[in-house]
Amino acid sequence: MVEIDIIKETCCSCKIPFWITEGHHKQLLNSKDTFYCPNGHGQNYQGESEYQKRLEREKELEETKKKIEELTRKRDPKGRYIKKKSRGKQ
Ligand SMILES: [Zn+2]
Repeated sequence: MVEIDIIKETCCSCKIPFWITEGHHKQLLNSKDTFYCPNGHGQNYQGESEYQKRLEREKELEETKKKIEELTRKRDPKGRYIKKKSRGKQ
């Protein structure tokens, strides 16, 4: 069985909802080609889509997490990192 992810889109003119495959969606995002709603209104992705914005936010969140981890790592007086010891109890 092949699973295909689909993305819901809404026409910017008539607001009709329609669905396209994720692969097609990505292609449209990259190419910014015109595509059409079932009623024939042409549209394309200009600038950042919600999908791209979400990816950006997720990336930023990952980087922030790494920074926090880096800053909260314990160091000894010489500035070296202290390895975490596994503790049986807190
Ligand atoms: Zn439409």
